[in-house]
Amino acid sequence: MATSAELIEVSERRSAHNYHPLPVVIHEAHGAWVTDVEGKRYLDCLAGYSSLNFGHGHPKIIEAAQEQLQRLTLTSRAFYHDQFAQFCAGLGDLTGKDMILPMNTGAEAVETAIKVARKWGYQVKGVEPDQANIIVMDGNFHGRTTTIISFSTDPEAREDFGPYTPGFRIVRYGSIEAIKAAVDANTVAVLVEPIQGEAGVLVPEDGYLSEVRALCSARGLLMIADEIQSGLGRTGHTFACDHEGVVPDVYVLGKALGGGVVPVSAIAANRDVLGVIQPGQHGSTFGGNPLACAVGNAVIEMLSTGEFQARAAKLGEVLHTRLRELVGKGIVEVRGRGLWAGVDIDPELATGREVSKALLARSVLVKDTHGSTIRLAPPIVVSEDDLIWAIGQLADALYELHNQ
Ligand SMILES: *Cc1c(COP(=O)(O)O)cnc(C)c1O
Repeated sequence: MATSAELIEVSERRSAHNYHPLPVVIHEAHGAWVTDVEGKRYLDCLAGYSSLNFGHGHPKIIEAAQEQLQRLTLTSRAFYHDQFAQFCAGLGDLTGKDMILPMNTGAEAVETAIKVARKWGYQVKGVEPDQANIIVMDGNFHGRTTTIISFSTDPEAREDFGPYTPGFRIVRYGSIEAIKAAVDANTVAVLVEPIQGEAGVLVPEDGYLSEVRALCSARGLLMIADEIQSGLGRTGHTFACDHEGVVPDVYVLGKALGGGVVPVSAIAANRDVLGVIQPGQHGSTFGGNPLACAVGNAVIEMLSTGEFQARAAKLGEVLHTRLRELVGKGIVEVRGRGLWAGVDIDPELATGREVSKALLARSVLVKDTHGSTIRLAPPIVVSEDDLIWAIGQLADALYELHNQ
């Protein structure tokens, strides 16, 4: 087999440089542990940005996928297939919503929510043609399509990709006053991440999501919660909105919905909203395919017991208690909820990337975001001992950087 160095060299030479990966070439993975091509093992503390909430190769998910692979993989939505009803009913029950519109990637689900909100605005709310606006947050991350990056505030994500799609108003994340000031008669929706993942795991103040909910209800706006990264067990609840008992009008889901096997995304909403979509108006060749639904069904079943949510809450206590002890020892601030943490490294000490590399050398996989932040989001199946060990590696790495 080729060495890591050889594979990295070819990868860098023959692929577009739209990512800046850490220098590790993964060959195999089970649960929370991955193995590189040289046989070295690492604890995965990124979990595919929460796509691997149930770990690598979870037996129930793999079994469902294998059974489906051998029987039926694709029909297109021109026909029904035998996994579709259970997927829509199951995800509808999990979200408490009437209807599901399945897609593949997260960005497609966000696009779906935008289109549904606009159509709802014109057909139900009575907004003047082509005048709908949607309120979005600064620091948002909703994906990479041309429309979505049109309302990004990250220059890297936007620059030289114009002209941009109009119809979005960007306000400060966490400020209910800012939303109030931006609403007008043509506003159809507020699109919000209950916790901003890419921005560095930013948790808004308690009460913010409830206030957004109340404002949306009062002004006749759809509250769209992008739970692609925050949802499906990660924060210790099924959805991050659950922490405030908030029910959005539209859930946007992805990442872990595909069980770490295939891309599966969806939006969930009630009939008065999602009912505006008629045949031919939106879709996807692969959206809701049999393999995706079979995997999604396994994920939904696993979440229906509450066992993963409880485990994320319990391990999250351990994670946050131990991380807080490191504040002042190379760490400036720790944020997050459940088994999910954004850790700001003291910029005097090192960049997020330097810490990520130091952890890689210590057999822990993490990824930096926005310069000085690293994100910890191990699979929920991680053992408590392994989690504590990984935090110990972080402490040691910071200590070592300090003494360099
Ligand atoms: C990852 C992510 C997306 C985009 O999902 P893709 O599958 O990469 O298109 C959208 N919103 C949030 C909050 C995400 O974390």
